[in-house]
Amino acid sequence: MQILYTIEEIQEYLSAHRQGKKVGLVPTMGALHEGHLELIRTAKKTSDLVVATIFVNPAQFNNPEDLEKYPIQTEKDLELLQSVHCDIVFIPKRNELYPHEPSIRIDFGSLETELEGKFRPGHFAGVGLIISKLYNIITPEHAYFGQKDIQQFHVIKKLTSELNFQVQVHMVPTVREQSGLAMSSRNLRLDPDALREAKLIFESLKYAQSALIENASLKEIKVQIQQKFLASPLTLEYFEVVDTNDFLPLQEITEPKNTALCMAAVINNVRLIDNLPLIA
Ligand code: AMP
Repeated sequence: MQILYTIEEIQEYLSAHRQGKKVGLVPTMGALHEGHLELIRTAKKTSDLVVATIFVNPAQFNNPEDLEKYPIQTEKDLELLQSVHCDIVFIPKRNELYPHEPSIRIDFGSLETELEGKFRPGHFAGVGLIISKLYNIITPEHAYFGQKDIQQFHVIKKLTSELNFQVQVHMVPTVREQSGLAMSSRNLRLDPDALREAKLIFESLKYAQSALIENASLKEIKVQIQQKFLASPLTLEYFEVVDTNDFLPLQEITEPKNTALCMAAVINNVRLIDNLPLIA
């Protein structure tokens, strides 16, 4: 596994070793877990040279405390990447990618003002910028992202198609703990009690999914979900059923195939998100 730190190093390495091989990009912020490793395993199946990147992107953090507390465990990350036979790891320093404050901003319309966009102002603009930079530096044929961050996935799909990046974007299903809790680097900040309580997120998404499939009223389900959270130590930030084309909350379901149930909740100051498609 090749570990590279600068733009020049990775570009030289790729031009020497590419030789017609398809390059697959897996962007991460490190603190890797099984969810990230599943992205690498999927990438290995459809790309010849898999590049994982580890970069805690300051531009996508609206909350300075969240950025400061973001777990860094590079040695362990490298061991994990090696264990799934990742080919290349790119670990740029902050200055390498942002030698100065970015002066451009990408606007994703309603994707930026709904759900994660609303609760994390500037987050998707930051995601759009870093992914554009990585696409331009690495010029991958494929890129892999988790369903766990479904709104991010649709932001990246839009970015890729509207800016004509020649990259095929893949979505990898959410990897979960046995309890159903979606794996996340932020779970490292939860104590065992909070971890147990946090499974309410997945449980209530599953409950809402089955009820909606049985044609229960969306309004009624929302009230029930709010009540479940009020009776728990978690604070519900949002629970919305959305059309994944624009992430606007739906009042009724018209296109089940494009419908997703999305949730964010906070426990012990740790913000967790999860989602389920209405139908698999
Ligand atoms: P992050 O390091 O949190 O920025 O995540 C890097 C990539 O891993 C993103 O594409 C995430 O959607 C994906 N990811 C994070 N957690 C999971 C998970 N539990 N299952 C699948 N993919 C995930």
